[in-house]
Amino acid sequence: MPIYEYKCTSCEERFEVLQRVGAGNENLVCPSCGAPKPVKQFSAFAMSHSTTGSSSTANSCSPASRFR
Ligand SMILES: [Zn+2]
Repeated sequence: MPIYEYKCTSCEERFEVLQRVGAGNENLVCPSCGAPKPVKQFSAFAMSHSTTGSSSTANSCSPASRFR
């Protein structure tokens, strides 16, 4: 599953979420302030992760993906 980056519309916190392709933001909340429906960010960081190899490091640094 790809990792998406979201930004909170309330406190502007940025966080990463592991999601299925095509999943929306209806069930997501900001891990910092709890505001619903963060805005998806389209950044290049996901592509740079795949080129640098190891996926285990990417998984270990995304605690937000377990927050539901
Ligand atoms: Zn927030």
